[in-house]
Amino acid sequence: MAKILIVEDEPDMVEGLRDNLVYEGYDVVSAGDGETGLALAAEESPDLILLDIMLPGKNGYQVCREMRSKGIDVPVIMLTAKSQEVDKVLGLELGADDYITKPFSIRELLARIKAVLRRGGAHTKKIKTAEFGNVKVDFRRGIAVKDGNSIELSHYENEILRLLVANKDEPVSRNRLLDEVWGYDLFPTTRTIDNHVVKLRQKIEDDPHNPRHLVTVHGIGYKFID
Ligand code: CA
Repeated sequence: MAKILIVEDEPDMVEGLRDNLVYEGYDVVSAGDGETGLALAAEESPDLILLDIMLPGKNGYQVCREMRSKGIDVPVIMLTAKSQEVDKVLGLELGADDYITKPFSIRELLARIKAVLRRGGAHTKKIKTAEFGNVKVDFRRGIAVKDGNSIELSHYENEILRLLVANKDEPVSRNRLLDEVWGYDLFPTTRTIDNHVVKLRQKIEDDPHNPRHLVTVHGIGYKFID
């Protein structure tokens, strides 16, 4: 059964989550602060992390960012007491897979955990690196190196490029990008995808206005050519 790491500083919340998750058959480990959470994420190899945002010391955003920069790509569900759009977007930009707003029902959390674990299974089959033209990409770290210069990719840029490269020479529709990059409960407009592709082209193309690798397929979406 899957192992879940809870990073949360409220003891009552940890106990409640632990009881429910153990009852569902999950292995559970927990950390009461961000520093310990980071250490356990590396040592315990959890299958999923429930990460509170408001933590003593390092907050959830910092923990998520540091984990991703260390190449730990375990799925993360962020627990937030706030409901502002900005928090959700920031969390996802930093590499979280989903978020849930407190107070939440345990039933809803369990459904999210199952969905993320299911997607996480596909996650591990995703390609980890790519090399084309004068560009090398490490998708685990979200870094592209072009002509020897290291360029940071945002979470969405990284995942869009990863999906396009994995489907080399085949058109990938905007709907598929929405499904596989943004997931089931976020509804960005197709314009959002186009904006991310424009930024990606600026980062990896020699001439972003005449792209060689990230080609527009009119009426459908995009295609990667190496
Ligand atoms: Ca907290």
